[in-house]
Amino acid sequence: MTSPVWHPFTQHGLGEPIPRIVRAEGCALYTDDGRRIIDAISSWWVTTHGHCNPRIMAAIADQAGKLDQMIFAGWTHEPAETLAAALVEMLPAPLAHVFFSDSGSTAVEVALKMALGYWRDRGARHRILVMEHSYHGDTIGTMSVGERGVYNAAYAPLLFDVGTVPFPAAGREQETLDALERLCRTESPAAFIVEPLVLGAGGMMMYGAGTLAEMHAICRRHGVIFIADEVMTGWGRTGTLLACEQAGIVPDILCLAKGLTGGAVPLAVTLATPPIFEAHLSQDRAKLFYHSSSFTANPLSCAAAVANVGIWREEPVLERIADLAARQSAHLAKLAAHPRIRNARQIGTITAVEVEDTAGNYLSALGPRLLAAFRERDVLLRPLGNTVYLMPPYCTDETDLSRIYAVIEEAVAE
Ligand code: PLP
Repeated sequence: MTSPVWHPFTQHGLGEPIPRIVRAEGCALYTDDGRRIIDAISSWWVTTHGHCNPRIMAAIADQAGKLDQMIFAGWTHEPAETLAAALVEMLPAPLAHVFFSDSGSTAVEVALKMALGYWRDRGARHRILVMEHSYHGDTIGTMSVGERGVYNAAYAPLLFDVGTVPFPAAGREQETLDALERLCRTESPAAFIVEPLVLGAGGMMMYGAGTLAEMHAICRRHGVIFIADEVMTGWGRTGTLLACEQAGIVPDILCLAKGLTGGAVPLAVTLATPPIFEAHLSQDRAKLFYHSSSFTANPLSCAAAVANVGIWREEPVLERIADLAARQSAHLAKLAAHPRIRNARQIGTITAVEVEDTAGNYLSALGPRLLAAFRERDVLLRPLGNTVYLMPPYCTDETDLSRIYAVIEEAVAE
């Protein structure tokens, strides 16, 4: 019998097998037929501390015995308050206001709406600037600020127009900075949204902290709101808690999701500085911030995120990340020497390579072939076209890490 499930980013017409997972632990997923799959991408970049982390699972179970879900408009609860206070303490000032939502996409939608809300009584700016090759989610709003391509072509008539700066490829950073400066001057934008240091779904494209700092400075000079989408990069992925730290900048609006709950359950936050929050304060009720969803600040998710913050505070997470990054560097250097491998790169726990391919792009036929080869060898890797990347849980040991790199070499050779 065929399943009624309609999977995301899956072409059901091809009838490809869809493995069924029954449990998970650490960096491994187990199938219903007893295979152990190494999760080399933290299940779409979320399970930072590994699957079924005992502290996070216990926090969810404990919270489940107290309060499951409640309306968050005009009401509050302890896990949300504890989490918001902990985030404000942990993240750089002046990010002092925490708005909850459910996914990276909604965190970005909220950020865009906050930016427009800020400008509402200041000349109603609404233009958004973005970086080429960015990905910020799959809702209509977040697709609008992301790269246009085959994946959103069907919805193009609904996407709003944005100003785009080129990706700051090595040696061409000045073009990006000049374009940003020009657009800030000529288009009176409300905000610039950017993935700090690494563009994820756009192909794990990395750029320098100096460029990030300069882009931030340009926005500052022109009074343009700087939105950092750290949905992927946050929670240590690039070697520091936030990627923005490496550029010494604090954004006006910060989006976090994925690793916020250690990747166990859905939750996102959009943090804002006082001027953004205060722009929404009024004696006029009609001027409130119009965004909510049924499950905003779900208590089970907030409890999981509080446990994640506890792990960050009490365990040597940054040391674990540095150790994983160093071990990855050694493997990457070896892989980079392979004659069919190009453009090996790394930031923190993220590594990426391109496999030589004449039609190297997102729809490269090589991607699905590599994916199948990885799957046959019980490794979960999901290439972006001909780009193969790793983003493993921080608990990945050397045996599993070596196996992942060995499998990549085997698949590439094949
Ligand atoms: N922003 C970035 C940088 C992302 O990498 C992603 C997801 O990969 C999103 C936003 C969207 O997050 P979600 O899939 O949780 O909606």
